[in-house]
Amino acid sequence: MTSTLLSQFTTAAVGGPAGTFIEARTEADIIDAVRTADAAGEPLLIISGGSNLLISDDGFPGTVVRIASEGFTVNAEDSCGGVAVVVQAGHNWDKLVEHAVLHAWSGIEALAGIPGSTGATPVQNVGAYGSDVSQTIAAVRTWDRERNAVKTFTNSELKFGYRDSILKQTTINGSPRYVVLTVEFQLPIGRMSAPIRYAELARSLGVEQGKRAYATDVRREVLRLRASKGMVLDPADRDTFSTGSFFTNPIVPAEVAEALPEGAPRYPAGQDGLVKLSAAWLIDQAGFGKGFGLEPGSVSGGRASLSTKHTLAITNRGSAKAADVVAVAREVRAGVERRFGIELHPEPLLIGLEL
Ligand SMILES: Cc1cc2nc3c(=O)[nH]c(=O)nc-3n(C[C@H](O)[C@H](O)[C@H](O)COP(=O)(O)OP(=O)(O)OC[C@H]3O[C@@H](n4cnc5c(N)ncnc54)[C@H](O)[C@@H]3O)c2cc1C
Repeated sequence: MTSTLLSQFTTAAVGGPAGTFIEARTEADIIDAVRTADAAGEPLLIISGGSNLLISDDGFPGTVVRIASEGFTVNAEDSCGGVAVVVQAGHNWDKLVEHAVLHAWSGIEALAGIPGSTGATPVQNVGAYGSDVSQTIAAVRTWDRERNAVKTFTNSELKFGYRDSILKQTTINGSPRYVVLTVEFQLPIGRMSAPIRYAELARSLGVEQGKRAYATDVRREVLRLRASKGMVLDPADRDTFSTGSFFTNPIVPAEVAEALPEGAPRYPAGQDGLVKLSAAWLIDQAGFGKGFGLEPGSVSGGRASLSTKHTLAITNRGSAKAADVVAVAREVRAGVERRFGIELHPEPLLIGLEL
């Protein structure tokens, strides 16, 4: 029997073989596959779009369940309460955003172009351009592997934070306690977007920050800006063979932020005077410019490098292994720590790997 190579299911195109690989296309299949693996005491890895996972070259020795359920149901639609839409976990996120914008369901347009599935969006509270899914998710229905029962979380029970939620906090090595089955969004009806919170996006739309624009324009501008940074999947562009941002933006006490050079971007982090920094800026200023690692004599032999469009993405140039991506990540993280004394933390889940 030939084993399934996980590199074909990850956007960084790295990852070794799965012990057992199951594609689950319905909610019943998902629950069945998870229960069977759990009953057999098998280690379990859940993947969907594979866009936020870095899987070791040794692969995963247990059962890998790929969530591939599709479709959505509109439960309610009226001008007062908006749209309540229940989306299957494996449904492609960007396709949902496109449908929403075309049908005048407002609120998720700034999240266009983010790869992966809808079921993964609450896991790390997916966000971009001043928006995140915590603003529109009403509830998440899950399979609780500890209690062997369905559990539904309301928005406040999900404990959303910056790239964080209870679903992520209870995941160990890619093995979640709660497997997402469906996600319910509550979206206002209208052709206008949510207020534009991100300065760069407001500028490119020609609106003041905090004002609204047509949602179709917001989606178009976001896709354009993202593509210019290699942040929209494109099989013809090696800069997009990544896990997106490899490091989260560090959140530090005010005195640490103040000690940085004058030009360092600093944003209020919304809690106890903490400050959010730009990981991309820190990486660049520590001497790792766009394309770092491309030289044949470099740390990964040129097989993996920082994107030539953005310093925050580590990309597979064609023949990289997970070990090559990790080598670049270690070099960058150590350099930022040496230069600024700030530790960077990876955003993707590392499976069978450590930095
Ligand atoms: C080019 C590029 C750009 C990106 N830009 C952004 C961005 O702007 N903002 C952002 O937030 N992220 C971004 N990402 C990261 C990624 O797209 C998101 O995190 C996305 O939600 C991951 O979805 P996925 O289906 O690919 O998840 P996977 O990578 O398959 O899985 C990620 C994690 O979620 C878990 N998971 C997946 N499905 C389920 C489920 N049904 N139930 C429970 N756990 C589950 C997995 O076990 C794993 O721990 C980017 C990635 C790439 C490659």
